[in-house]
Amino acid sequence: MSERSMPHDPSAWACPHGQDARRGCVACYEESTDADPELSFWEVVAWFTTDRPIPIRTLQDVHHHGRRFALDQPSTPLVYLLTGHARAVDSVQAIAGVVGFLLHNRHVVTSFVVTETRATRRSAATPSGPVRSRQTDVWLHDRRRSR
Ligand SMILES: [Zn+2]
Repeated sequence: MSERSMPHDPSAWACPHGQDARRGCVACYEESTDADPELSFWEVVAWFTTDRPIPIRTLQDVHHHGRRFALDQPSTPLVYLLTGHARAVDSVQAIAGVVGFLLHNRHVVTSFVVTETRATRRSAATPSGPVRSRQTDVWLHDRRRSR
């Protein structure tokens, strides 16, 4: 992969381990499996592309493995949708953890490029007003605009 997939503001996407959240972070993934229940609960959606198709059978297997994650294929070939839940400090860490699921399952998805993410906070860690939904961004589109 070339530099074209680099974000225009890498620091905004750095998880606590210094990884780009959109590339996933195994440490965030592992932490999210045993997270402090005090942390906010996030619902994350990530669209990603792969070099080769993921077999239907594999997609179904992911559904069986965990309730926390689901892999779906929208109508476009080689574009997949990963949805997952994570407890995390913020949306970046939540995304890093959910995308980290793909890293953790390299036998399922050998290479991927996340093109868009969305993280929605479902419950707040501390009572601090209404639950806020934060749309992180549409990364590829932003990139084009920033040129
Ligand atoms: Zn991390």
